[in-house]
Amino acid sequence: MTSAKNTLKPCPFCGNQPREDDLEDCIYPANRERTIWQAGCMASQGGCDAEVLAGSKQEAIDKWNTRVPRRFGIFNLSLPLL
Ligand SMILES: [Zn+2]
Repeated sequence: MTSAKNTLKPCPFCGNQPREDDLEDCIYPANRERTIWQAGCMASQGGCDAEVLAGSKQEAIDKWNTRVPRRFGIFNLSLPLL
């Protein structure tokens, strides 16, 4: 298996690449019970401060990696005219 599953893709908003040697700064538990995990684009690393919340570390990584930039969102849907 590759290690790609544990790697964060570049931020979909600003393109900043999270540092692989410093992932613990980008993915961390958001509460003491470690039931909420946060993955983010660290402003301290030149990012835009975007973030996602999830129920586990792996889920936070998956959510971040499958997120679609907002500009590809609902505005590209062709809605039927009423
Ligand atoms: Zn960003």
